[in-house]
Formats: sequence, structure tokens, C-alpha cells
Amino acid sequence: MVCHSLAPFVVLVAALFLRQVQCSPVVFEKRGICAAEDPDTTFLSAIEHVKTDETQPTDAGSEARKGPIEIETWFHIITSSAERDQVSDDMIASQFSILQYAYENAAIRYRLRGVTRHVNDAWARNADDLGMKAALRKGTYQTLNVYFQTDLQASPGQAGREGRPEIPRTNDLSSSVLGFCTLPDPSVNASSPRADYIKDGCNVLANTMPGGSLDLYNRGGTAIHEIGHWNGLLHTFQGESCSADNPGDYIADTPQQSSPTDGCPARRDSCPHSPGLDPIHDFMDYSSDVCYESFTPGQNERMRNMWVSMRAGK
Ligand SMILES: [Zn+2]
Repeated sequence: MVCHSLAPFVVLVAALFLRQVQCSPVVFEKRGICAAEDPDTTFLSAIEHVKTDETQPTDAGSEARKGPIEIETWFHIITSSAERDQVSDDMIASQFSILQYAYENAAIRYRLRGVTRHVNDAWARNADDLGMKAALRKGTYQTLNVYFQTDLQASPGQAGREGRPEIPRTNDLSSSVLGFCTLPDPSVNASSPRADYIKDGCNVLANTMPGGSLDLYNRGGTAIHEIGHWNGLLHTFQGESCSADNPGDYIADTPQQSSPTDGCPARRDSCPHSPGLDPIHDFMDYSSDVCYESFTPGQNERMRNMWVSMRAGK
């Protein structure tokens, strides 16, 4: 069986952290606020190239793509003074376990090199993304850096690029986003200076971690989704159209989808005249955490190939 459900594991982890869940006024959230940038033409031509390679017969290059992939990873916990105790060590450990489990079928493993903690009100709300990353980013281009921020907000530019202005409308999270992340940049090479990729990495709202206070989205699914972008995946509803002209996410085995899923419906078919139902259990949709289960084999292969062509050795 290629895919297996994340749900039992996250339920277990959530249960372990029930004592830490704080009361929250949050009553309704949409994931429609992953403010990852829309792919530019350079990225799209790179993805077309990788996609073409995937159809070629096995050769030395594709053999190299089949080996295990291990990604060195740093977690940075950025809290405001008011929320300095929000993220416990257990939440961090759970988030990492869930991440590892979600990418098992892709044969991608993460090696946690370290966790850094910082109390900084401006960084916690992402008021100085560049300054924060210049100070904290570890490793090279192939190193994954995830910034868990207690008061994460997207800049207007980020929200605009995503084209989804909706924001969680809650009392204490009035301008928060769940997360955003950089896609691989084809222009970065092994000799690129750090300044060329200093912003590379994923920003994640800290209370989406397992045991966090954000109802429906506190099982660690946001980090899995954002890191999917870091590994080169687009949203399953990319292009938001049922048109045959819409290449969507450039993955063959994710059915066409014209809009993001909200919550966890029993069934959804936003493109009824295209094959397949909406991939509501896919990590790259916007469903709530309990709905998240897996990546498809095509997404797993794509992430591996994107790693080899875009990040490995850089
Ligand atoms: Zn996203």
C-alpha cells in the first residue's frame, strides 16, 4: 500500500497534548491562507523539465533519484514576549515525528540538526523576515529551515501573490496566516552566495504545531504542507480552473480541482467533468488537519526529482 493515513497518529499525538491545549476563541479557520508565492515562469519551466525527465526510461540519472534522501533540518522557534511559553519541547518533538511520518512513502527523511529559540516580538509577527533569516538561517541551500512564529502574519505582497486574501477571522489572530514557504529557485547553484537564498525556508504559525491552540489546524499538518512547497510541490488546485488548458500542479495522479477544500467534507468534486474526485486528503490541498492523509506517488516522485535537480549538493 503506497499511502497510509496520518489520522490515527495525529489523533494519538493530539491526545497526548490535550493538557496543553489552551482555550481559544477560534471557532472557524480556513487553510486558505497558505501564502506561498505563486510559481514564476522560471520555476514552471524547471518543473516542466523535471516532469519530462520523469517519463524517460531508467538511466544512471534516475537511479540516483531512487536512493534515500536525507534533508538536514533546523527548527527555529520564534515567540513574542507574551507567548514565550507557547511552544513546548514536546510540541517540537511531535511536530518533527509527524513530519517524518508524512514523508516516509517518499523515502525522504529529515535529520533535525538543532532547534533554536528566540523571544522577539517583531520576528514573532514576521515584521522583519529578512533580518530574522539573516540572523538565524543555518546550513546551505539544501538545508531546510523552518521558522515557527507565534504571531505570524503575511506581508500584503505575499497574500496578493497567493491571490487568496482571506485571513482567519478570529479575535486574537485577526491578521495571522497559517504559513508560507519558498519554492526551489532554479537560479541558485552550488556557488551561489548565502545572500541569494537567505529567505529560503518555511514560515509556520506556531500554534499549528501538535498540541497548539488553533482548532482544526493544530495537528502539525501546516508544516507538512509548507515543506511540500519547499520540496517543489504546488497546490492540488493550482490554477483554480477545470479548463483543459490549466496544467494544475503538473502532477499526473492528482485529479483536477478548481478550488481549495475547506474543512473535511465526505466527498468533493469541483471538476465533475474531469476524471476523479477532488484530492481532499492530500497534504497539498487546504483541508483541515484531520483530513490530511498523504501525498500521491506522483507527488512523492516529483519531490525526489526536484531535490536531485534543484537542491542536492547546493
Ligand atoms: Zn500552500
